[in-house]
Amino acid sequence: MTDMTESANLASGAETGTASQDTTIVYGTPVVPGVAWAPAAWTHRPPLPPATAPEVPDNEREDEVTRFEAATQAVADGLFDRASRAEGHASEVLGVTASLATDKAWKKETVRAIRRGIPAIQATMAATEKFVALFEKAGGLMAERTTDLRDVRDRAIAHLQGQPEPGIPVVDHPVVLLADDLSPADTAGLNPAHYVAIATEVGGPTSHTSIIARQLGIPCIVAARELSTIPEGAPVLLDAHAGSLTLGVPEAEARTAVEDDARRVALIREWRGPGRTADGVPQQLLANVQDGATAEAGAAGQAEGVGLFRTELLFLGTPTEPDVQTQAAAYEPVFAAFPHSKVVVRTLDAGSDKPVPFATLSEEFNPALGVRGIRTTGHNPELLPRQLDAIAEAATRQSGTDVWVMAPMVSTIPEAEWFVDLVHDRGLKAGIMIEVPSAVILIDQFLDIVDFVSIGTNDLTQYTMAADRMSPHLAEYTDPWQPAVLALINRTAQAGVRLGKPVGICGEAAADPLLAAAMTGMGVTSLSMATNAIPAVGAQLSQVTRAQCEAAAAAIVGSRDAGDARARARKTLGVD
Ligand code: PEP
Ligand code: MG
Repeated sequence: MTDMTESANLASGAETGTASQDTTIVYGTPVVPGVAWAPAAWTHRPPLPPATAPEVPDNEREDEVTRFEAATQAVADGLFDRASRAEGHASEVLGVTASLATDKAWKKETVRAIRRGIPAIQATMAATEKFVALFEKAGGLMAERTTDLRDVRDRAIAHLQGQPEPGIPVVDHPVVLLADDLSPADTAGLNPAHYVAIATEVGGPTSHTSIIARQLGIPCIVAARELSTIPEGAPVLLDAHAGSLTLGVPEAEARTAVEDDARRVALIREWRGPGRTADGVPQQLLANVQDGATAEAGAAGQAEGVGLFRTELLFLGTPTEPDVQTQAAAYEPVFAAFPHSKVVVRTLDAGSDKPVPFATLSEEFNPALGVRGIRTTGHNPELLPRQLDAIAEAATRQSGTDVWVMAPMVSTIPEAEWFVDLVHDRGLKAGIMIEVPSAVILIDQFLDIVDFVSIGTNDLTQYTMAADRMSPHLAEYTDPWQPAVLALINRTAQAGVRLGKPVGICGEAAADPLLAAAMTGMGVTSLSMATNAIPAVGAQLSQVTRAQCEAAAAAIVGSRDAGDARARARKTLGVD
C-alpha cells in the first residue's frame, strides 16, 4: 500500500479535451491507489531483430563471444550503478536485474550458441526465451522475473547494435505513462512529478514494477487488457481506486475527481485509531508482521494488535530446524511489542512460494497444490508440536499478551481437530486460516471445533479461481473482488456471526478500504494488514455507518464480475 500523500496529482500539463459525451473506459487491476489526470504517453519496447541470421564464420566466433561479454557487462555495470544511487525497493530491484545480466547459466547458454555459429543477438534472444520458459514453468516468484530477464535481453541487444539502451521517453510535462509492460529498471527511474500515473496491459500486483510504483507513490493499474485503444497524447483520467482509465472526461470533472482524492489523502493523514465506523461501531484493525521489528512498527503505528504473524518468514534461509529455545527467542519480541494486546501467530506456512529448508519437500511438480502449511506435518509430525512449545514458552515469558495460534492451509476436519488439541494442550486459543474452499464448504463444522478463524484472502482467491497468485498474466482472476471469492468470504463471516466465533481477514483484501468496509458489513470481526495500510482503511471506515457497510456487503454479493462489485461498493458507500 502506498503512502497516499503522494498519490494524488492534477497534471497542469494536460490539455483540455473537447468536452465530449463520448467516454472510453478501460478497466485494469488497481495496485497503487490515487487519481491523476494528464495526457497519455505510450512507451513501446523496440521490436526484436529477426530470430535467425547468417551463421558467423568459424574464425569470428570468439570475437562475437567477446562482443556479447562486453554488452552484458555494460548492462550490468549500468544497472548496478543505478542501484547504488537508488533507495529501498528500487535499489534492490535494480540490483536483482543487474545480477540477471551476469547470470552464469544464461550467459553460458548464449556463449555455447555463439560458438555454434549463431550471431550474438540471436543467441541472446534464444537463450532468454529458454530461460523465460523455465521461469514460467517454475511459476510463482520466478515467473514474475521474466519481465526482468527480457529487459536485460533488450538492453544487451541494444549494446550489440551500437544503440542506446531502451528506456522511457523523456518528457518535460506530466503524463500518464502507458505500456504493454514496464520493466522494473524503467519504473525505478521514473520521476513522480512527470509520470503522474501508470497503466500497463499486463503485469501483476506483486510484480517488481508494482512494488516500485508503490514505493514511488505513483497511482498504478495493471492488466488493463484494452489499453491499446487509448491514443497517444489524449488526456486520460486514471482512477486507481476504481481501477479505471477514462478517455474523454471533461476537464472540470477530471479536476473535481483529482481534488476529491486529495481530500481523501488529507483524511487519511489525519486519521487516528482505534478502528470504528462513523456511528462508532468498533472494528479491530491489526497488523501483519514477520518479526520483532515489523511488530514494533505496528505498535508505533495505529495497529491494535497483530492479526497475522508469519513465522515462516523468520526461517526462509535457515537450513536446520532451530530448537525450541531459539524459536521462543525469535517469537518473544513480537509479543513484547504488544504487551497487552492480541497477537495471532500463524504456525509455519512452509512450502510453495515460501520454502523453509528444514520443512519443505525439495521436489514438487505443483508446489502451490502440494505439501505446504499444515500439510508439512505429514512427513515431519514433530515439527508442529515443537513450534507450539516454543510459542507457548514465549507466551509465558510475555504473559500480558493475548496469544492466539492458527494453522495455515487447513482443508480437512481431522487436521483441524489435531491442531486444536495440540494448541489447547498448551493453554492457547486455537484457530485455522480459511484459505482453501473446502474449509468454507464445511465452515459450520470447522467453527464448532476452533476458537476463531482468519480468512487468508490471497490463497482463498488463488484456490477459488484456480489462478496462480504470483502470475503476471492472471491479475483479473487473482482479484478478491471476484464475486465467487466475495461469496465465500460472506458465507464464512455469516457463519461466524451465527455461531458466535470471531472471523478475521488477514489477506491483502483487508488493506483495500472499500472491501474492508464491505467485509465489515458481512460481519468480520477484525482486519489485519501491512501497518502502513491501516490509516487508509481506518479513514474509510470512519466515513461510513455500519448500516452502509451492511448495504455494501449485500450489494456486492451477487455481482457479475469484479468491476461490477467495485462499482456497487462505491455506490453504496457513497464514494462516487
Ligand atoms: C493469505 O493467503 O491470504 C495469507 C494471509 O497468507 P499468505 O499470504 O502468507 O499465504
Ligand atoms: Mg496464505
